[in-house]
Amino acid sequence: MKDIAKQVREFMEREDIKAQFEADLASIISIPSVSEKGDGKYVFGENCARVLDTTLAIGEKYGFVPENHDYYCGSLIYGEGEKEIGIVSHLDVVPCGGGWSVEPYALTVKDGLYIGRGTEDDKGPMLISMYAIRFLMEKGYSLPFAVRMILGCDEEVGSTDLRHFASVREVPDFSFTPDSGFPVCIGEKGIFSFGILLGKKPANILEIGGGTASNSVADSAYCVVKTDVTPNEKEGITVENMGDTLRITATGKGAHASLPENSLSAVKLLCEYLVENGIADTEGLRFLAKACSEYKGKTFGIDKEDKDFGYLTCICGLLGEKEGELWANFNVRYIPYVPYEEIIATVKQTAASYGFTAYSGGCSEGYIMSSDDPRIQALTDSCRDIIEEDCAPYTMGDGTYARYMKNTVAFGATISAYRGLLGEGKGGAHERDEYISREEVIRAAQIFVLSLLRLKKVYSGN
Ligand SMILES: [Zn+2]
Repeated sequence: MKDIAKQVREFMEREDIKAQFEADLASIISIPSVSEKGDGKYVFGENCARVLDTTLAIGEKYGFVPENHDYYCGSLIYGEGEKEIGIVSHLDVVPCGGGWSVEPYALTVKDGLYIGRGTEDDKGPMLISMYAIRFLMEKGYSLPFAVRMILGCDEEVGSTDLRHFASVREVPDFSFTPDSGFPVCIGEKGIFSFGILLGKKPANILEIGGGTASNSVADSAYCVVKTDVTPNEKEGITVENMGDTLRITATGKGAHASLPENSLSAVKLLCEYLVENGIADTEGLRFLAKACSEYKGKTFGIDKEDKDFGYLTCICGLLGEKEGELWANFNVRYIPYVPYEEIIATVKQTAASYGFTAYSGGCSEGYIMSSDDPRIQALTDSCRDIIEEDCAPYTMGDGTYARYMKNTVAFGATISAYRGLLGEGKGGAHERDEYISREEVIRAAQIFVLSLLRLKKVYSGN
């Protein structure tokens, strides 16, 4: 395997291949393929259609068989076999936002980095997997399965592309999606949100609100209140006198719902403050203060821990009012061994025991594959050959493409040693100056080649 890895590096560093890779990457990066609601046959808009057509043409030129699945997604197929191995990536990107030091929709090659929107998420990894297969083609390897690259066009806004794929083609026997980082992610927590109505809003609270999205811990919350109380000073709380009302603002620390460990809930700060100072006091406010002072779902009786996933997380993302009642929205990342129906039932029961009403906001199920599965071992061993880090499979609380297709795991294409080279808040997926390093390109290509050759052994027995 060492020798093959060396050959892959030589292949990727060959002048003609390197020039082709950069030209191909430049041509797909230059298309601002933000998925949108299109009309007619371009279901996700003209740019997504264009990036798919361009990528299919690139693949066809190199010997892949192209298929366009009604512009939801496409396939590039190599080889033949009764079974298929899928490599699932996406061609749509998130909007570029501001603050870039280079043109986002053009490829910049600088200091060993490829910079541009989509270089890392996910056009770059898609192209790396294509070049890994080109290596196998050139060396004349035959595989006992067909390899199907699936090219999605609305991963960032709903992943209906993969559902469409499953309705027009048979889902591959096993797939990986290079839309994450190495090593192998064998499981993702289930995700759901729920709303809760917490009883009548206190009459002296004229306005109340907090947070911006269900999936992050609310980092600010406020209320406008009529009161005679002169409130105390408290860290994280500012009070503005507005004449006959006070505007109380709480400032906490936000965090993604899947990683709440270092967060501080502004909803907790606000509710606690109102109760402690006697400005407003209801069971709803007290309950919220308690539920937002922890992030493991204990208050709702749904806390659970397990060796594969760690603990369930439950955070409050939004605060407000609905039909005169105090209202909040919680986001839960749960361990998929426990069925969703069971967890939401417990949430509803707990809410009801206080006289509150909880309702589901929809669920996306998680998954787990066994780390003993020989295919997972094939990927893990290939990772170990190429990167000098702990390559034990991991699980996470966030969701990728992998959850939308059976027997699919997230795998690559970033390597942590090459992340963050441009400083915090830059260079990563969805960030400004998004990049993939040249070294990640080469190493990911090596890992993909070795993985496919190990899968060859798994599927043919030799
Ligand atoms: Zn992505």
